Amino acid sequence: MPRSVETMTDRQVLIIGGGIGGLTAALALAQMGYGVAVVEKEAALGGHAARLACKALERCVKCGACLAAQTIAAAAAHPRIRLHTGCRVSGIRRGDRFAFSIEPCAREGAPSRGAPGEADAVVLAAGFRTFDPAGTPYGYGLFPDVITNLELEGLLRAAPLLRRPSNGAAPTRMAFIQCVGSRDAARGHLWCSAFCCAAAVRAARLIKRRQPALAITIFYIDIQTFGRDFESVYAQARREIRFVRAIPAEAVRRESGGLLLCWLDDGSRAPVEEEFDLVVLSTGMTSCPETLALSQAIGLRLPGAGFPAAGGPGAGGAFIAGAAGGPMTIEQTIADARRTAWQVARFLEEGR
Ligand SMILES: Cc1cc2nc3c(=O)[nH]c(=O)nc-3n(C[C@H](O)[C@H](O)[C@H](O)COP(=O)(O)OP(=O)(O)OC[C@H]3O[C@@H](n4cnc5c(N)ncnc54)[C@H](O)[C@@H]3O)c2cc1C
Ligand code: SF4
Ligand code: SF4
Repeated sequence: MPRSVETMTDRQVLIIGGGIGGLTAALALAQMGYGVAVVEKEAALGGHAARLACKALERCVKCGACLAAQTIAAAAAHPRIRLHTGCRVSGIRRGDRFAFSIEPCAREGAPSRGAPGEADAVVLAAGFRTFDPAGTPYGYGLFPDVITNLELEGLLRAAPLLRRPSNGAAPTRMAFIQCVGSRDAARGHLWCSAFCCAAAVRAARLIKRRQPALAITIFYIDIQTFGRDFESVYAQARREIRFVRAIPAEAVRRESGGLLLCWLDDGSRAPVEEEFDLVVLSTGMTSCPETLALSQAIGLRLPGAGFPAAGGPGAGGAFIAGAAGGPMTIEQTIADARRTAWQVARFLEEGR
């Protein structure tokens, strides 16, 4: 059976990805006594969760973002976890054990020298990429006041008041467009990205609290109420924010600099137009080609839904944790990573 107390073992686990999923799995395995190497391609740990703003109002709204800082600190302090930031795994091969090389992510033109490594199990925790909305009919990349939800997080972290990127003025009418790049049959992205309804509602409530004169509209297909307490957060939000059940067809920039959104009224099906001065695209999760290549190299199944297979027993020592396996919130990622750590431990103790 997997170890439940800290007893030492010489078994080693490689974790690819130092986001909240990879670090949670690393901590669980280190606490069971295994040696863990975490390889993170970026200079900083924590993945997407570490880039999110706190959405607390009078009280914490349980967005989960601050769990990233706590998990990074715990992983950095654990003696059995070795952290390799700014590095990638290359040449991974499965034999009796996994053999690989840890290479620094070389700056262009700079030579890089890899360090060889071996592990008894590998956890792919390389997370997700946000959908790139360039080329959608909302003018992302052309109109500076059309931004993504991840860019909004950066603005909320940087300053207490939200301003229009085009001219620095405070916006008066702001819109969120949900499901950009998710639940989109034309792109083959049939999945719901799980986090973006709650993220938009929490961000809108925070902005409304900071800038009460700002009118906020959320355009949606249906609101996914994942997570603890979110039903009550949503009920409160409906009193503060306008929700329109429609997805605008396009954004047109007016000479005034305003952004005209056009949609069909949900009841009458009549066309409606309205001007906004800031538009946030709630872009969802997509998988990354490098992650898919790694998952094949270590022998994980690819079900063809755009993400490697999540959950279930790992194939011959290869496991997956967190949003690398499919869209998940932070809370779901932590639960999934802990479950994966137990599966890895069971494999190491029984499955060889
Ligand atoms: C705008 C936005 C708002 C969100 N708001 C919320 C919220 O309020 N509440 C909530 O619960 N969730 C929210 N989420 C979702 C949350 O970010 C995810 O649930 C969480 O980040 C998943 O963690 P992860 O570790 O699986 O993946 P990630 O956070 O993507 O971490 C993966 C890590 O792996 C690294 N990596 C990738 N490929 C490689 C490689 N080949 N080699 C080495 N390292 C690699 C990445 O650099 C990254 O550090 C939000 C997401 C976004 C984009
Ligand atoms: S869970 Fe979210 S809202 Fe609550 S304190 Fe942490 S970052 Fe802030
Ligand atoms: S969570 Fe909401 S916005 Fe995100 S894909 Fe699902 S339904 Fe769309």
